[in-house]
Amino acid sequence: MIHYRLVCDADHEFESWFRDSAGFDAQAAQDLIHCPFCQSTKITRAVMAPHVARTHDPDAAKLREALDALREKIVENTEDVGDSFPDEARRMEDGASQRRAIRGRASFEEARALLEDGIEIFPVPSGSREGH
Ligand SMILES: [Zn+2]
Repeated sequence: MIHYRLVCDADHEFESWFRDSAGFDAQAAQDLIHCPFCQSTKITRAVMAPHVARTHDPDAAKLREALDALREKIVENTEDVGDSFPDEARRMEDGASQRRAIRGRASFEEARALLEDGIEIFPVPSGSREGH
């Protein structure tokens, strides 16, 4: 048995079990799968996250372009404070530093501590053009 996330032509998402992928294909071809919300039989498998990561997927390339554009915009409009990001974010919050848009690096624990202290930060996905 395999578990599929499915989506109908009205964008309702639901889940169902099938004997195997051929079982899904056969049932879908015979309109035997109904959307539980609108009874549509135009059902396709919902796109799963791992598909997006495939480099030859044109949708993944588009997504990466959008992320790169977002990163460039952030880089243009923020000051890079590097590894002192957590400290600088706190100084700004305390009023010790002038409030401005900064970017930098923080470990998972540092980021969580900032969020727990009510300091607004958000993660930026690493870009394809920047090495690690
Ligand atoms: Zn539906």
